[in-house]
Amino acid sequence: MNTRDYYCPDCANSLGLLPRKMPPSLFNSSYQIGKVEKHTTLTATSGWLSIFTSATPEAYHGYVLSAVLSGCVEVDQKGKQFIWFADTPPGITHKDGQYHASANAVRVVWPENDTKVHAYPVDLSTPPKRCTSCDRLLPQVAS
Ligand SMILES: [Zn+2]
Repeated sequence: MNTRDYYCPDCANSLGLLPRKMPPSLFNSSYQIGKVEKHTTLTATSGWLSIFTSATPEAYHGYVLSAVLSGCVEVDQKGKQFIWFADTPPGITHKDGQYHASANAVRVVWPENDTKVHAYPVDLSTPPKRCTSCDRLLPQVAS
């Protein structure tokens, strides 16, 4: 079963889940460059595809920076990822070449691998996510 746990930024930090260290480069390998291309180019493909609304390297860098420095942490069987719930939709999701939904978050995968780390928009709106540790509703922040 595919279970995912989410941790708010405060709990992620106090638990030391992931070091908040910006990768040296987001265009370090052909793997990374391929992933950026995939998630900024709308193609008619089968299955799921998520596309950033803005395809500029600056916007992409900004999404990764926000996620790494201030994002939530998602833990599943593949490892730990940064999740940043964006103020405005960072992109859209497509299924089989058709528009599916607006994305509300950015996922940074392979955050500790300098040649594989990359980001893509995701729709994590339903069901609402809660912090596994403090039960805070995400993306709400502590007051
Ligand atoms: Zn928490």
